[in-house]
Amino acid sequence: MGNYKICDFCGNLYERTNNRMCQSCEEVYRKIRSIVEVKPDTIVLEISNQTGVSVSRILSFVRNGYFVMKEGTIEVNN
Ligand SMILES: [Zn+2]
Repeated sequence: MGNYKICDFCGNLYERTNNRMCQSCEEVYRKIRSIVEVKPDTIVLEISNQTGVSVSRILSFVRNGYFVMKEGTIEVNN
């Protein structure tokens, strides 16, 4: 068990790395980020539709400080 940890974002077990999230969440994060960077005015619901990622999963990145919520849209938190 020592080599595994629970992902803060999706709750899945993953092999321990230096990252805070599992590989699946990293891919999801990159997908969301690429949309937000190109079209910052895309609302969360639309991001969800485009990526197939649930709104609650997108909001878990907001909760963990990766994005900032702005009236229905999100910004990359640098
Ligand atoms: Zn995860």
